Amino acid sequence: MGLIRSRSAVAPLRRSLRSEARLPSVEALVAAERPAEPVLCLRPAVIAEAARDFVGGFPGTVLYAVKCNPEPAVLRALWEGGVRHFDCASAAEVALVRSLFPEAAIHFMHPVKSRPAIREAWEHQGVRDFVLDDASELAKILAETGAGAADGLGLVVRIAPPPGGGALYDLSGKFGAGLEEAVALLRAARPHAARLGISFHVGSQCMDPLAYRRAIALAGQAIRMAGVAVEVVDVGGGFPVAYPEIEPLPLGAYFAEIEAAFEALGLPQAELWAEPGRALAAAGGSVVVQVQMRRGGMLYVNDGVYGSLSDAGAPGFRFPARLLRPEGGASPVRRGFSLFGPTCDSADIMRGPFELPEDVREGDWIEIGQLGAYGACLRTGFNGFDRARLAEVADRAMLGDVAEELPQAA
Ligand SMILES: *Cc1c(COP(=O)(O)O)cnc(C)c1O
Repeated sequence: MGLIRSRSAVAPLRRSLRSEARLPSVEALVAAERPAEPVLCLRPAVIAEAARDFVGGFPGTVLYAVKCNPEPAVLRALWEGGVRHFDCASAAEVALVRSLFPEAAIHFMHPVKSRPAIREAWEHQGVRDFVLDDASELAKILAETGAGAADGLGLVVRIAPPPGGGALYDLSGKFGAGLEEAVALLRAARPHAARLGISFHVGSQCMDPLAYRRAIALAGQAIRMAGVAVEVVDVGGGFPVAYPEIEPLPLGAYFAEIEAAFEALGLPQAELWAEPGRALAAAGGSVVVQVQMRRGGMLYVNDGVYGSLSDAGAPGFRFPARLLRPEGGASPVRRGFSLFGPTCDSADIMRGPFELPEDVREGDWIEIGQLGAYGACLRTGFNGFDRARLAEVADRAMLGDVAEELPQAA
């Protein structure tokens, strides 16, 4: 998610990735093309299925958080899976979603927006809902839209969730009003809003369903203290996926916790929203890299933290990996490897460990999975390594537990 440095979501939207016809599998792609540059593999059917499961299971409205993968093929797969609402954070994301789906409901869920972005979204892109966590942002939204309750304006107050939420990424340091402030904002926004909401984000890859329960209870406290009617309770994103040795509870456990906590608020007129990113997109994306040199347990590969593997760097995420050697004959014995990316920066290292056959060698390819979220969208052009192809494939996803299917080194 780019904790190393901030990166704009706009550049990747502009960089055009060549997409070819869908291939049956990643193995077939590597055997046929022996790619010398990284290949971003997309499995639209896997993304559509994740969307269907989430939309079918969540007891409310599902907004896809566009930032985690704005690739048009991903957005189309989500639409096919039943997603009709999109959580956008920039003018470029709003314009992209609108260009693909004239009927989509787009919600502007970044708490700090530029004035031109607000104006453009309201006047030209049909955006009606805007999030805020500060009185100055409320004033900005009202001034730039010139709108109010009679015009269908939706205002959502973002509250900081209680600390210790069990997420691998805590996002509450940057956004979210404190309780007293949220109460004041709910009161201030109410007269201007056709639809008033309260939202939070428990942090990404949240391993504890109770974090949602606690945050919903806090939202309920804010609503009661404000003494105003609220039409939307938005539980944000954070829904986790599997990574090696990280097996979250099934999403159903999260949905049950959220539904129970929401019902306990006693707001029968309110709608429940969620803004999943990772949980919809992760499994549908991977990257195929090639080994350029091996030095002991270190593999020098052609993509890294300035490419699709940002989260494998300083944030320390482990990803599932598998060897692709078209001529076959890899050792059945596995060991852990670390990867160096292609740039000259010594921070371009992904410690993993990535479990692979012990005889990995120069020229081998490695597929690294669960990268459909916060992978390709974080690529940069640093050091000239910005070339990557996009390929759509139709095989099964590589999930967090893939390594367990094969024998381990003694
Ligand atoms: C990033 C983000 C999301 C998506 O988070 P995931 O952890 O990927 O589900 C949702 N809402 C907001 C406001 C975000 O910034």
